[in-house]
Amino acid sequence: MEKNYHVCTGCGLLCDDIEVESEKNIINKVYTACRVGVAHMKEGKEEAIFRVDNKPVNEETAISEAASILKNAKNPLIFGLGTSTSETHKLAIELARKTNATLDDTSSFCLGSLVEALIHNKIKTCTLDDIRNKADVIIFWGADPSDSHPRHLSKYSYFPRGSEKQRGWEEERTAIAIDIRKSHTAKICGNYFFQIPPGGDTEFIDALIAGLSGKLPKTSYNYPPKKILELANILKGAKFGIVFAGLGLIYSLENLEPLFRLMKALNEKANFHLVPMVGHYNMRGFNENLFAETGYVNSVKFENDIVRHGPEYSIVESLKAKTVDAALIIGSDPLSSLPRSIAKNLFEIPVISMDPCETLTSRNAKVYINTAISGVEAGGTATRMDGTKVSFKPVVETNHPSDEAILKKIMEAL
Ligand code: SF4
Repeated sequence: MEKNYHVCTGCGLLCDDIEVESEKNIINKVYTACRVGVAHMKEGKEEAIFRVDNKPVNEETAISEAASILKNAKNPLIFGLGTSTSETHKLAIELARKTNATLDDTSSFCLGSLVEALIHNKIKTCTLDDIRNKADVIIFWGADPSDSHPRHLSKYSYFPRGSEKQRGWEEERTAIAIDIRKSHTAKICGNYFFQIPPGGDTEFIDALIAGLSGKLPKTSYNYPPKKILELANILKGAKFGIVFAGLGLIYSLENLEPLFRLMKALNEKANFHLVPMVGHYNMRGFNENLFAETGYVNSVKFENDIVRHGPEYSIVESLKAKTVDAALIIGSDPLSSLPRSIAKNLFEIPVISMDPCETLTSRNAKVYINTAISGVEAGGTATRMDGTKVSFKPVVETNHPSDEAILKKIMEAL
């Protein structure tokens, strides 16, 4: 019997080998997925919920109220979209143009600059399949995929067999963790764990670059030079090396220059690639889709036919400066994820929340539209963390409207 595999949209790995058992459109069993994926695929609710001012309404009323908020705003903010399909991104960009909105996603305060560098070919990259097939030296830098992307090590990086790595982990691969704490991933890396102090990444990079050229590596925090030289020697021998760059690394750097220097130095001695540890399943897709339309990956402001870009158009700066007068939040919970001093400004403007889950933002929104879970109850396309395009169909049928369908209706109602 032919098996039906599904894609899990629980994280940026977009695992495409998921089997489920469902009855009457309720998923009862999920095979192959990790604990995050199982919970994600089973989180569907029976009835769609629409609310205005915390009172239940029908879909039509919620859409008409959302359209009226956007129509009356001079500078609405459209934010989120990391867990939406690329089809939804395109509609959100169109809606932002139509309403002269500020448009941003979480990448403006996480990995957006790194994805932008990849789009501009400033860093050598590769696919997860290349890594499974060829990688012999794997660095997890400021990243803990054992917790954030639980199948990362088993499906793509350290443990699996690949076409040129028939024996898999330990025997043919060296996994290295560089982090400020001994994470679950760092424990798996055993002796190849390099613990650095918070904010010590730039100095460690420069010490490593010195070590790669045989110079004495020095840091102000007196990291043992012998250990850095040992690490440099392993990296120099890599036939196919990969750096998985996580938030811990990016938050520690003032800009990406040290990382560019490191990748250049590594590629003078060996063969190294970099893949960003994108969390939300289609954050990279949002960056690419917005870039294709505007030349920028996030933080844009549409003004008639002009597109402006800069940090002042990020959600953080827009809310801090109170330049936005309404917000459409799609699949995101800024009230929980942003610092309270900034997020509280959302209480002063009308907020429309479109989300498959109840969140702090949805509970405090003027309009709440309970959308389908993208990838489980709605299909589409997305970009995996390594840039690979993935298509998926809904796993079950539902009466929950997709965020794509809702955006279309809001645009019609404008
Ligand atoms: Fe889903 Fe990510 Fe787990 Fe894969 S690793 S099953 S994509 S949550």
